[in-house]
Amino acid sequence: MINQEKAPFTLKPLPYAENALEPHISAHTFSFHYQKHHKAYVDNLNKLIEATEHKDQSLEDIIKNTAGDAGKAGIFNNAAQVFNHSFYWHSMNPKGGGTPSGKLAEKINEDFTSFEKFLEEFKTAAATQFGSGWAWLVLDQGKLKIEKTSNADTPLAHGKKPILTIDVWEHAYYLDYQNKRPAYIDTFFEKLANWEFAERGLN
Ligand code: MN
Repeated sequence: MINQEKAPFTLKPLPYAENALEPHISAHTFSFHYQKHHKAYVDNLNKLIEATEHKDQSLEDIIKNTAGDAGKAGIFNNAAQVFNHSFYWHSMNPKGGGTPSGKLAEKINEDFTSFEKFLEEFKTAAATQFGSGWAWLVLDQGKLKIEKTSNADTPLAHGKKPILTIDVWEHAYYLDYQNKRPAYIDTFFEKLANWEFAERGLN
């Protein structure tokens, strides 16, 4: 699991090629996002924790132990972004999108009444996150919920289990969609959302 890794952290291999999500997310966007942004968070985190008590902690423990501590905002931001980005790559699949099936579909119907209501709530959260951040499907006390977080913040820091995420920082979509964040969000759900990954998270 991504969140049980320990230092020194490494940029984990992607679950698919950088051009695998084309034409929905270009290899150009993907390579910048992964090789520059994600890698920088990994490198910064390793430097920031080098001489601290966090150097032997798992990624998840570092996130939980630094959340809300203003003096450790740098460590928290980089650790959370390492986790969030790894989680985002797995939240997509070249053959993803459309509607989920099986256990996940049943749970969505149970907790949101319908897939349409779920989708509307998820898309609204992603579209209305002001500035940089993330929209999430999470498991909270056994119930599926939609949340949005600002900047690096992550549901892991708040005792919730992430199930699926979409990155709505501009660097995730601006080269391909410019200012049209809703078009990127629509494409994510129509073509990319990895429902199998989400379903595995229910266990
Ligand atoms: Mn990002």
